[in-house]
Amino acid sequence: MLKPRLNVLIVGAGLGGLSAAIATKLAGHEVLVLEQASTLSEVGAGIQIPPNSARFLISWGLREAIDRVSVLPEAIRLRSYRDGSILNEQPLVPLAEEDYGGPYWHCHRADFHKALVDKCYALGLTVKVRINSMVTKIDFEAPSVTLSTGSTIGADLIVGADGLKSKCREQFLGRSDPPHLTGDLAYRILIKVDEMRKHKDLEEFVRKPAINTWMGPQGHAVCYLLKGEGYYNIVLICPDNMPGGVNVMSADPVEVREFFKSWDPRLQKMISLVSSVSKWRLQNSTEMTSWTHPSGKFTLLGDACHATLPYLAQGAAIAVEDGGVLGGLLGKLEDRSQLPGLLRVYEDLRKNRTTRIVTGSTDMRNILHLNDGERQKRRDATLLADDVRPGFPNKWRDPVFRNFLFGYDGAREVEVAWERFRGKSGSGAAGAFRARL
Ligand SMILES: Cc1cc2nc3c(=O)[nH]c(=O)nc-3n(C[C@H](O)[C@H](O)[C@H](O)COP(=O)(O)OP(=O)(O)OC[C@H]3O[C@@H](n4cnc5c(N)ncnc54)[C@H](O)[C@@H]3O)c2cc1C
Repeated sequence: MLKPRLNVLIVGAGLGGLSAAIATKLAGHEVLVLEQASTLSEVGAGIQIPPNSARFLISWGLREAIDRVSVLPEAIRLRSYRDGSILNEQPLVPLAEEDYGGPYWHCHRADFHKALVDKCYALGLTVKVRINSMVTKIDFEAPSVTLSTGSTIGADLIVGADGLKSKCREQFLGRSDPPHLTGDLAYRILIKVDEMRKHKDLEEFVRKPAINTWMGPQGHAVCYLLKGEGYYNIVLICPDNMPGGVNVMSADPVEVREFFKSWDPRLQKMISLVSSVSKWRLQNSTEMTSWTHPSGKFTLLGDACHATLPYLAQGAAIAVEDGGVLGGLLGKLEDRSQLPGLLRVYEDLRKNRTTRIVTGSTDMRNILHLNDGERQKRRDATLLADDVRPGFPNKWRDPVFRNFLFGYDGAREVEVAWERFRGKSGSGAAGAFRARL
């Protein structure tokens, strides 16, 4: 049987859009990615790539490219803010590979993004990277997009992967839908590893790669080593103090030192090495009723439909999963008439999982940001006792939640859902099908 070859147009060349592009191209379709920016790039900071995302990347042939630029953390460590003592830890090596079939990597975002871009070019994708590739309007029935230049581009399927402030989402909803404030902000900092090495008490952090998280009143700090030019990545979370309407701005290192002045002296020392800091307002979205247009020619993925607080380090990972599942389903298509049904299968497979991760990330604030007091003492005692069971405050160590998070097998879900879909569509119910897994 000759499989249909769709023209798929993806709006946004972020980590989610590029993942969808690779998976869709590998599934045998033509792909065009439109990016509003004038260059392809990512924020100058680190990113964690957990095994649920790594397995998709490996299946696309990216293991070597990402290995080359990544570090393998030996554990996720939760520390007390006061003295940095370790309250609990979840080992990652060899657990990630052995139990979940892929590494837990961390690397510089620019390196991760470049690996995806290189793969796109290697697959012969057309990736338009011009300022006038900004999508301003969508005709969901045609379907087509209109660019800021006024020109129109048609396709068989349009995928909105345009991030937190998604124009695609707003067009789909037919109203303005700005991201929600979460009340927190993130300072993002890179320190030269050579600078860290000059201080004996900081040496441990660059010698033994690990993800170190200090938990304290109304904030937390996440730190890990990057490869390449030798940077140490620091993300400091605290209450949002940014002026209205501003989402990213430079910050005075003095305000950072002030907030963290009673924290572990080693963390304070790291902060003292910083000469420039940027701060990002942390925003997320509420769950949408649906991601897919009734025309069956448009859907959403990534932050455009499920932006999350980064407290489980899963936002990009679930965008990669979206891309992998969407591409996997498109690879099954036998007839164009199946597309609307398959998009609903995609949404059904992805929505519950992503909502649970967004909610779980918000819940993490209640674990990480406790003020000193009874609840904090109980949390610390539970972490130290390490009597691991469902609901354990270190979610990466909670065996049920960790299996849910890292053990996700999107490729298998695609196979199971496709068999059900084909069974149903064989009896003429393709349009009305809803996968129930
Ligand atoms: C402090 C912090 C730390 C984080 N750490 C992690 C982590 O360790 N691990 C993890 O998995 N996730 C992490 N995340 C989350 C992760 O960064 C995001 O979830 C992820 O980058 C979303 O990818 P995306 O492709 O959906 O959106 P984006 O990365 O926002 O990409 C959207 C793209 O669309 C383009 N675009 C927008 N509008 C248009 C338009 N109209 N026309 C054309 N192009 C358009 C944009 O220019 C952009 O390139 C973190 C987030 C923060 C804030």
